[in-house]
Amino acid sequence: MRSDKTILVTGGAGFLGSHLCDRLLDAGNHVICVDNFHTGRRSNVAHLLHNDRFELIRQDITDPLRVEAQEIYNLACPASPVHYQADPVRTVQTNVIGAINMLDLAKRTGARIFQASTSEVYGDPHVHPQVEDYHGNVSPTGPRACYDEGKRCAETLFFDYQRQYGLEIRVARIFNTYGPRMRPDDGRVVSNFIVQALKGEPLTIYGTGEQTRSFCYVDDLISGFVALMAADDSVPLPVNLGNPIEFTMRQLAEAVLELTGSRSKLETRPLPQDDPTQRRPDISRAKAHLNWEPAVALREGLKQTIAYFDAELSGRRIESANRFTKAVPIVTAAHLNGAVPIVAQKGQVG
Ligand code: NAD
Ligand code: UDP
Repeated sequence: MRSDKTILVTGGAGFLGSHLCDRLLDAGNHVICVDNFHTGRRSNVAHLLHNDRFELIRQDITDPLRVEAQEIYNLACPASPVHYQADPVRTVQTNVIGAINMLDLAKRTGARIFQASTSEVYGDPHVHPQVEDYHGNVSPTGPRACYDEGKRCAETLFFDYQRQYGLEIRVARIFNTYGPRMRPDDGRVVSNFIVQALKGEPLTIYGTGEQTRSFCYVDDLISGFVALMAADDSVPLPVNLGNPIEFTMRQLAEAVLELTGSRSKLETRPLPQDDPTQRRPDISRAKAHLNWEPAVALREGLKQTIAYFDAELSGRRIESANRFTKAVPIVTAAHLNGAVPIVAQKGQVG
């Protein structure tokens, strides 16, 4: 659908933000990307710098910002545990002060505002799969709290600004997402395993490797963002966005080894404190209200991501790396007709 709004994307030079900028520009919009390059990279948006509908502003969102926009996507925040725990106080500041600044901007301009929240608000969940009404099991004092509690407080602020000032808010709880433009040193499991496999180094399994996550390919997630932003005010919030197919970390490691053809070994490392044991989204709300569900199978998404990291590691990061995406969807007409179930069982890699 074409549109020509002016849209602010905070964290727009990061992994998800840069894909979102692409998608919004492709639809005809003007995009203002704000980023302090804490974990983001200019190279993620280098291919956009000559587009006269794209503007890049280097700024920290903990400082107030004065721009005019009809929509704001607030994505700024390091997402990898390694990066958000490196400076936890700053992570809280980004989540809380940054959210207040962006909400105040939306209040002043009348913009609709989207918050990139996270499945981490469920902590180490006792309800499985996680539904939006579940309040979670989060340690307020552990090493993940700067992120988990920061994001929970940001959600609180969004709902309070909606109730108190009538802001048009959209809140997505994002589950583990992967794809091209992740940093090789990102530290999250998909990038770690692929980089280790490509370098012939051992794949580092934390704990037993029996803990689970559900991995969404970036293109699918961005479609969910845009659908949620476009939804009318009757959409119930927040909305889980993620792939409901669940894998253990051992299964992920084995899939990466197979797809890279690597002969790397698996090596166990201590499980980080407060590491959630299981995670899978219930996406009934997104299906019912946004007509959205993921279409890219793990194997397909991993192939695209492996090709990207292969180019990145061998210094071949070319323009196409910025357009490395569009994995082949596994959903066929038969799936959509209901003739074949879309959801595979835990343990089937794609
Ligand atoms: P990322 O680290 O690649 O991107 C975050 C971007 O925000 C980077 O470009 C970084 O430089 C920028 N940034 C950080 N602090 C900032 C600040 N104070 N001011 C301005 N810019 C700042 O991470 P990502 O995976 O692209 O995640 C984007 C958003 O989505 C984050 O808010 C994250 O919490 C959320 N999220 C992501 C996932 C995922 O699996 N990728 C899952 C849940 C939630
Ligand atoms: N993990 C792992 N090896 C790694 C990196 C992570 O086994 O090299 C595990 C980690 O302990 C967690 C899961 O993979 O159980 C997902 O970790 P990630 O950091 O990607 O995301 P999050 O914990 O925030 O879901």
